[in-house]
Amino acid sequence: MSECLFCKIVKGDINLSKVMETENVLAFNDINPQAPVHVLVIPKVHISSITKVQKEHSALISDMMQVINEVAKKTGIVESGFRVVVNHGENAGQAVPHLHFHVLGGRKMTWPPG
Ligand code: AMP
Repeated sequence: MSECLFCKIVKGDINLSKVMETENVLAFNDINPQAPVHVLVIPKVHISSITKVQKEHSALISDMMQVINEVAKKTGIVESGFRVVVNHGENAGQAVPHLHFHVLGGRKMTWPPG
């Protein structure tokens, strides 16, 4: 089975536009941005989907929330507002089976989403 795309990014096998990194979390610019700011926040460890998050991941998920807030500060979207999205499965259009939070900002976004 071929290795997960985001695991390859974590290993440094694929180029990334890094926004920030901690011991367990990586944040990088989405290759196909849907907003002026579109950053992906991922755990370095492979978790295939939000549905696979376990109690043992509590500290990691908390770290990811901290990173999301740091990314928002770093990219200047705290005041104007931003959106955090997790896609799971076909109906949501999940394309990469490695947990990731989309951090989107820099423009007005509609609600509800399409
Ligand atoms: P999702 O549809 O929620 O699984 O989102 C996957 C995201 O990964 C999409 O927004 C893609 O544009 C993004 N993506 C795919 N390959 C790369 C890459 N090599 N570097 C950065 N982002 C990527």
